[in-house]
Amino acid sequence: MTQLPLRAQLASALGRSAATLSRMTGRGDGSVIGGRVGLLLEPDLLRKLAHDRKLALISATNGKTTTTRLVTSALLELGEVATNAFGANMPAGHVSALSQHKGAPYGVLEVDEKYLPEVLDTTGAGVVCLMNLSRDQMDRAAEIWLLAQKWRRALSGKPTHVIANCDDPLVTWGASTAAKVTWVAGGQRWKEDSWCCPECGGPLDRKDADWACRECTFHRPEPQWAVDDDVALDPAGERWLLDIQLPGQANRSNAVMALAVAAAFGVPVDRALPRLREVTSVAGRYTTVERDGRYARLLLSKNPAGWLEAFDVADPQLPIILSVNAQGPDGRDTSWLWDVDYRILRGRPVFVTGERRLDLALRLDVAEVPFTLCDTFTEALAMQPPGKVDVIANYTAFQQIRSEFGRAV
Ligand SMILES: [Zn+2]
Repeated sequence: MTQLPLRAQLASALGRSAATLSRMTGRGDGSVIGGRVGLLLEPDLLRKLAHDRKLALISATNGKTTTTRLVTSALLELGEVATNAFGANMPAGHVSALSQHKGAPYGVLEVDEKYLPEVLDTTGAGVVCLMNLSRDQMDRAAEIWLLAQKWRRALSGKPTHVIANCDDPLVTWGASTAAKVTWVAGGQRWKEDSWCCPECGGPLDRKDADWACRECTFHRPEPQWAVDDDVALDPAGERWLLDIQLPGQANRSNAVMALAVAAAFGVPVDRALPRLREVTSVAGRYTTVERDGRYARLLLSKNPAGWLEAFDVADPQLPIILSVNAQGPDGRDTSWLWDVDYRILRGRPVFVTGERRLDLALRLDVAEVPFTLCDTFTEALAMQPPGKVDVIANYTAFQQIRSEFGRAV
């Protein structure tokens, strides 16, 4: 790799010291502060750090942290990979990730959906992976449509190779201005945000996985890759058992997206798949923590679509603890709780905690799901019989539990 200009070298080095200081003083994992310092000193730092590297950007409403982790694992087949493993998915986090692996020829960056156009313009990434778009907390349908429109503009006229989920109509629309697209039938569990054609506003007809607009020509493209329960189908029609360790259908969908991205970098399935199997948890997600013989598996869910994915992973035979907060990153308004169908929890022992436990309690009561209210997560865990329990928490509730157990990874 060519040397960075002196100013960028300095900015990058100072950013790294700030990150170290931030970690030493216990203020965080340092992945954002270092990047912020670097960008203040050299606003063009991200472009300079991205130069000469082969980059993949991963964006979606749900699953981007996990897919970033899976793609990173697969690309390790080729060499060193820089990545923002802990979900710091805005430019400061990208600067930090690339600064920490200055010699890495490859980079896999999780990118916040709203920042994708800017980060694509700045880095000139060769590969972009787009998986799903749905409402995050209180975003409205019109807002995610505008977001997809910005993706279209950003991709238009660039040589970027896009890997996109054609089961999500809005993602399909957002990706379809790209010069080269590999379509993946990755599935779509949450359909509530896509009953209208993004192109003309007409009704979308759906039949099984297929969809098409009734009023214009917009329709589901033919996929080159697909996931069928626990099998991935590659473009040659070959079937691969997705015996990964991460649980649930959403993760098998993330895995097939990761295989398609790896293939775009020249890593064949037989080399990528063993690498995906090595991933057992992602930034604390799916980790099991233990206290006094209670084994709690931690599931994160940040929005209505995420709750459905967590329900899919949760074991119906086990008790379940739900924890909901409403701090900044969670969205202050908890009315999204009413978009989630909680009736699937009927018949399981359900424990409710978190700062907004009363909001969730009301929602469960209306859904006729019996539950026990607990003041704290510690209390909820202590009420369990020894053995396994599943925990679903939204963002800050999840981070609180994680830090209580020493930032479990
Ligand atoms: Zn239409």
